[in-house]
Amino acid sequence: MSNAFEKLLRGDFPEKFEFVELLDHYRDYFDAVKTSARRITDKIFGKKIYLRGLIEFTSFCKNDCFYCGLRHSNKNAKRYRLSPDQIFESTDEGYSLGFRTFVLQGGEDPYFTERRLTYIIEGIKSRYPDCAVTLSVGERPFEEYAAFREAGADRYLLRHETACDAHYIMLHPSGLSPVYRKSCLYELKRLGYQTGAGFMVGSPFQTNETLAEDLLFIKDLEPEMIGIGPFLPQKDTPFGGYPPGSVEKTLFLISVLRLILPYALIPATTALGTARKSGREEGILCGANVLMPNLSPLSVRKKYMIYDNKITTGEESAESVEKLKKHLKAIGFEAIVDRGDFFKPEKDI
Ligand code: SAH
Repeated sequence: MSNAFEKLLRGDFPEKFEFVELLDHYRDYFDAVKTSARRITDKIFGKKIYLRGLIEFTSFCKNDCFYCGLRHSNKNAKRYRLSPDQIFESTDEGYSLGFRTFVLQGGEDPYFTERRLTYIIEGIKSRYPDCAVTLSVGERPFEEYAAFREAGADRYLLRHETACDAHYIMLHPSGLSPVYRKSCLYELKRLGYQTGAGFMVGSPFQTNETLAEDLLFIKDLEPEMIGIGPFLPQKDTPFGGYPPGSVEKTLFLISVLRLILPYALIPATTALGTARKSGREEGILCGANVLMPNLSPLSVRKKYMIYDNKITTGEESAESVEKLKKHLKAIGFEAIVDRGDFFKPEKDI
């Protein structure tokens, strides 16, 4: 048995080299780790799956990340911005479908100044005080994070992408700093956001060493949410020719993350569902407990192409939420109408 797995089971935290060893042989451990992960998820969350309504509100981006289809240099990308009213309409629709969390995600779009975003956050919170607002708008000055929190934002998703600084530099242009990105995450936590970190699996130049660093970083940060998905190439980016990340390894890492942070909210992501038709169901069976259907207006959905072939119709869309609920039921799970906040009891369950 792997030392890392054994340690995780007894509640000890493995060393980096032990994680590397586990990842080197992940196929041998897959079934056992999956079973333990699902068992602990069941113990804490039962069969509950939390839904988040995702609103991709701008495809403009000032950054130039080498993997992302929204990158500034991609002249083939289709750009759009939703108006505040379009965003409010999406939340109205989402609310009536049973969503109690709205996730505003976008490229780093300077059009959405502090004032404009604050207006949108306050607008959603005044319409639906019983709902959580999650932001995912990248790196912003710390004062703005504080202002958005003040305006009522509850949660923030900012994947760290890779915890290894040398690897980070291979994925991003020179203006972007791994140190600043990580400091944003600690600041978001300090400000009281339920904070989400995460990374792509199989991004170019990733190794089991860098992945082990991701796991150590996540243990240190203790984010309330962790989002991971396979890297998927987008043809108009510098990484368009790289192979996609492994679905199996992504599933394995979902299970490992569940063992590391048992109470975390872990989505079965769109990238996982794009890479494999049954990807999100399998993610749930490996310990994921969140799904994020798309609430963006249909007219813009195909324009938010961070990677090729992103699924844009079907069960990731909110209209199909009833179908989604049936599918979850078929595999023994239940979609919940609830804010689904992070919760960790004083004493472990
Ligand atoms: N601008 C925001 C939101 C980015 S999109 C931010 O910086 O946080 C959300 C996530 O999609 C990214 O954090 C990245 O991990 C993922 N992503 C981007 N391009 C991808 C690709 N080609 N394959 C898989 N995931 C990708």
